[in-house]
Amino acid sequence: MLSDRPTVLCLSGHDPGGGAGLQADIEAIAAQGAHVLGFITAHTVQDTRDVARVLVANPELLRQQVDAVLADSRPAAIKIGLLGDAATARYAANLIRRLGVPSVVDPVLRAGGGAELANDALVEALRRELLPLATLVTPNAAEARKLVPEADTLDGCGAALLAAGTENVLITGGDEPGDVVINHWHSRDHAVRRFAWPRVNGAFHGAGCTLAAAAAALLARKLPMAEALADAQAYVHHSLQHAHAPGQGRRVPGRIHR
Ligand code: PLP
Repeated sequence: MLSDRPTVLCLSGHDPGGGAGLQADIEAIAAQGAHVLGFITAHTVQDTRDVARVLVANPELLRQQVDAVLADSRPAAIKIGLLGDAATARYAANLIRRLGVPSVVDPVLRAGGGAELANDALVEALRRELLPLATLVTPNAAEARKLVPEADTLDGCGAALLAAGTENVLITGGDEPGDVVINHWHSRDHAVRRFAWPRVNGAFHGAGCTLAAAAAALLARKLPMAEALADAQAYVHHSLQHAHAPGQGRRVPGRIHR
C-alpha cells in the first residue's frame, strides 16, 4: 500500500558536515511533510567554509539504486542539486522525462566559499539538456549570470531560461548587496513577480538547497506554484533566523524547528 505522505526523489551531493546537499534536502522536505528518496550523485570534501573536492559517485551504482527504488515507490516530485559532471546531468534529464512529475533543479555552480562546483561541460549540459525540462529552476543571481552570460540584466537571464523551455525560474538575490533580498519569479504565465525579504544578516551554508528542496516538497504536496514558492521562501527565511553554527565558517539554516 502506498502512503499518503508524498515522496520526493532527490539527486544530490553529500556534504558530510550536514549543511548542504542531501542532508539539507532530507531535513527541508521532512519539515514540509514529505518523504525523501535520496540518491548521492557526488561525494564531497568540505567544511562550513568551502568545498575542497567533489568526487562523482559510481554511475552504474546510482542507476541501480534509482531503478530499485522506482520499482517499489512512486515519487510525486524530483529535486536535483549538485550533479558533479555532464553525464550525471544527462542522466537526471532522462529521469525527469521518465518520471513525468514536477521537477525542481537547483543549478549548483559555485559554493558560497568560492569553490567551482561545475566545469564548462556541466554548465553546457545544464543549459541545453536539463534546465529546459524543469518545472522550476532556482539559481542565485551569480548562477543565473553564469548560465546566461549573454544576457545584460538579471531579468534577461530569467527570460532566456524561460525561452529555452523551463516553466518557472526563481532567481534568488541573497548573493546580491542590500538590506532587502529580492527574489524574481519568471513564469510563462505572467510578467516577472518579485518577492522582498528583509535580509537575515550573516553568511549561510546550504540555503539554496533548502529553498529548492522545500519547493519540491510543496509541489509534491500539489500546492500551486505561487503558494509553493511563497511558502518555501517563508520557510527558508525562518530557517535562516534560526540558523546554527556546527562549524567555524558559515552558519547552517535551522531547518527542523522544535
Ligand atoms: N555541497 C553540496 C553537496 C551542495 O549541494 C552545495 C550547494 O548546493 C554546496 C556544497 C555549496 O553550498 P553553499 O553554497 O550553500 O555553501
